[in-house]
Amino acid sequence: MSKAGRHFLQIPGPSPVPEPVLAATARQVIDHRSPEFGELGTRVLSKIKKVFKTEHDVVIYPASGTGAWEAALSNALSPGDRIMTYETGHFASLWAKLARKIGLDPVTAGENWRAGVDPDAVEAALRKDTDRAIKAVCVVHNETSTGSTTVVKEVRDAIDAAGHPALLMVDSISGLASADLRMDEWGIDVIVAGSQKGLMLPPGLSFNAVGPKALAASKAAGIRRSYWDWGEMIAFNKTGYFPYTPATNLLFGLDAAIDMLLEEGLENVFARHARMAEATRRAVQSWGMENLCASPRHFSPVLTAVMMPEGHSADAFRSKVLENFNMSLGSGLSKVADRVFRIGHLGEINELTLVATLAGCEMGFELAGVPHQKGGVDQAMRYLAETSAA
Ligand SMILES: *Cc1c(COP(=O)(O)O)cnc(C)c1O
Repeated sequence: MSKAGRHFLQIPGPSPVPEPVLAATARQVIDHRSPEFGELGTRVLSKIKKVFKTEHDVVIYPASGTGAWEAALSNALSPGDRIMTYETGHFASLWAKLARKIGLDPVTAGENWRAGVDPDAVEAALRKDTDRAIKAVCVVHNETSTGSTTVVKEVRDAIDAAGHPALLMVDSISGLASADLRMDEWGIDVIVAGSQKGLMLPPGLSFNAVGPKALAASKAAGIRRSYWDWGEMIAFNKTGYFPYTPATNLLFGLDAAIDMLLEEGLENVFARHARMAEATRRAVQSWGMENLCASPRHFSPVLTAVMMPEGHSADAFRSKVLENFNMSLGSGLSKVADRVFRIGHLGEINELTLVATLAGCEMGFELAGVPHQKGGVDQAMRYLAETSAA
């Protein structure tokens, strides 16, 4: 393999870190009890609210997204509480598994690895819950294993239509800052997010945006917790500090990443992602291949999961691409292992990065002997040129 040029990290997270963000993290560590840190903390904790579209508290953990999953559940829920999930893919299923491990009782309203959450199924399940045993509805915004995006507002409306008091918790670990999400307007009680996807940071930070209903629930009860406790965290955060050593250099990076997102404008960021996703789908269709997400209204702006032609290994194809073109594509997870590969088009993705990524795929098909029609890259280029702004 030629090592010239850069590695193409086109998995759906971690995503490549933009130069200004990398540069911001490459600083000497500072005292996390110093006035300088207090200013950084205050600034970042305030700015991050814009990304979540909330006026409520956003808690930042030095942890991967999985930690923030556990934090959300353990703060707002009590041992034995029933929660309702919907299996849109591997990540929805993992969150439910985690819930069971920490003593909750997850039940699922349905399963579909080729679309977003079906709000009618959620509403029907909540209507049947006449004794209000379900304490939270937990859904994944952007299902990173399948490339489907749930319309979160519809889930909110389903809960309201059923007149059910359950909390709405949303995993937007791979959705935040790539697909629109409006915490306050859509009445979301908790959003779980991570640093290494749309936020364009290295792995290592995760988030809980906490609405008033969830915060009240956490004060009344909750699962035993210490490290994850919202109460102590929010109390320290009021002056910009943390109860334990924060990931200082990732916070320098977060400061820079939020500036980049706000400078471009969140709506422009979402539109750019949608455009990259559409170009990718045109290439996939032109290759004669199928998108794992079969529901157009749920197509993900973050990634596209492509089904391999019958009898061909997605992993063998991905290896060829890595060996020959120094590009990482996402693997198929659990049920769709080796059956799909995933193209990440999130974060700092632009036209030329995407075209190169798709070209790597098209050349990879050739090398791996995967049957396909030529010209997918041409279709993507045509679309990108046609929809260029200037
Ligand atoms: C990446 C991801 C996770 C897991 O996050 P980690 O940082 O690997 O713990 C959970 N849910 C979704 C939707 C994800 O994309």
